[in-house]
Amino acid sequence: MNYQKEWDVIIVGAGPGGSKCARACAEKGMSTLVIDRKQQVGPPKRCGEGLSKRWVELSGIEPTPRWAVQYIDGAILISPTGKKVVVANSKTTGYVIERSQFEKLLAEKAIEAGAKYMLKTQATGLLKDGDTVTGVKVLCDGKEKEYKAKIVIAADGVDSLVARYAGLQTTLPLTECDSGYQYEMAGVPLLDQQKMELYFGKDVAPRGYVWVFPKGDGVANVGIGVMGSDITTAKYYLDKWIDAHADRFKNASMTEINAGVIPVTAPVKKFYANGIMVIGDAARMVNPIHGGGMGATMEAGLMAADTAKEAVDAGDVSEAMLKKYQDKWQEVRGKEFAKILQVRKFFEKLTDKQMEIIAEAVDPQIMIDLGHGQGLGTVIKTLVAKSPDAAKFAMSFLTGE
Ligand SMILES: Cc1cc2nc3c(=O)[nH]c(=O)nc-3n(C[C@H](O)[C@H](O)[C@H](O)COP(=O)(O)OP(=O)(O)OC[C@H]3O[C@@H](n4cnc5c(N)ncnc54)[C@H](O)[C@@H]3O)c2cc1C
Repeated sequence: MNYQKEWDVIIVGAGPGGSKCARACAEKGMSTLVIDRKQQVGPPKRCGEGLSKRWVELSGIEPTPRWAVQYIDGAILISPTGKKVVVANSKTTGYVIERSQFEKLLAEKAIEAGAKYMLKTQATGLLKDGDTVTGVKVLCDGKEKEYKAKIVIAADGVDSLVARYAGLQTTLPLTECDSGYQYEMAGVPLLDQQKMELYFGKDVAPRGYVWVFPKGDGVANVGIGVMGSDITTAKYYLDKWIDAHADRFKNASMTEINAGVIPVTAPVKKFYANGIMVIGDAARMVNPIHGGGMGATMEAGLMAADTAKEAVDAGDVSEAMLKKYQDKWQEVRGKEFAKILQVRKFFEKLTDKQMEIIAEAVDPQIMIDLGHGQGLGTVIKTLVAKSPDAAKFAMSFLTGE
């Protein structure tokens, strides 16, 4: 298949961020090429497949049974000793999705809008004119090729090299990422078909949690995220947890293994340079408390498309122009994510005993707010009131000492 050599926009990565951005770019009338090193859009998934209602709406795709396989109306948080806290309000509704179909649908919508896709095509470098990115070097069918673009968008995920090719600083310390491991399983009995289950505790999942996300008919994603620097693997902790619930899982078995890295940190300092913008996991735009990133990457894709259109129309792809994208992201999502990162840092310092106190005493609605970066003050006050020995710890957290 022949592809034109020059484009308005080339997007590297056909994940949710890349395809959502591609659709928006094409709808704005820009010639848009998406490249991906995989041979099909979607699989293999590296995902628990949870997507909240607001992100389902932002995706611009009707939640049909093809991809939105299980409606979710809340979550059950399970403390280290097994205390269950049920959280349910409009912020906890959403779907467990069939991600491979979701990604394919996002790509189909982008193609309907006019974007082109080139698969089995790996970006191996960037074309540059001075310090301005002017296109991508690719390896396609074993051949090296070059494609020019007015703007390149790096949507190439957590192990992004494209941002680095542009000279951007994307180093990700192990302490700032979670290591994820998951089995999709059949035959799993559920506490509630419409609720996600999240299990906490230092011995269960250091810094993270075990999840059971229902997909209907006894199928569920049973997974874990743990601090990337932990000397033991995520698989070890997940297997240990499943073995500890042997009775529950006696008639269950795996149909898939999924693993990957989740950047639960602050975004990279600068996610644009002359001729290039970076979106999604490549820029570390993940909710630092629960590790969800599909929504944020799609949202960033839309913002990058807006700035790309303005830049292409103005014939100005300089840093000064593309900075508008980062400014917009900072205003809409950056401040919230910074607060959520504080929540993550607070919770990772808690002992299991302190976690029990919180599970016992804090209003479940506040638990929901924490996922949005709100309510930490209330949690700290409750903890200090119930456990005076937590005062020193709370104070040292608040003062950063
Ligand atoms: C175990 C686990 C569970 C998760 N669970 C959830 C969840 O339940 N809900 C949620 O919202 N998020 C979850 N996440 C996070 C979510 O998967 C990511 O945030 C999301 O995939 C980011 O999307 P993206 O488009 O930025 O990048 P990706 O989805 O990673 O897409 C990047 C694309 O770029 C391609 N690519 C990479 N390098 C190149 C190259 N050089 N040339 C060409 N193509 C390239 C890749 O093949 C890939 O298709 C989870 C992550 C993990 C690891």
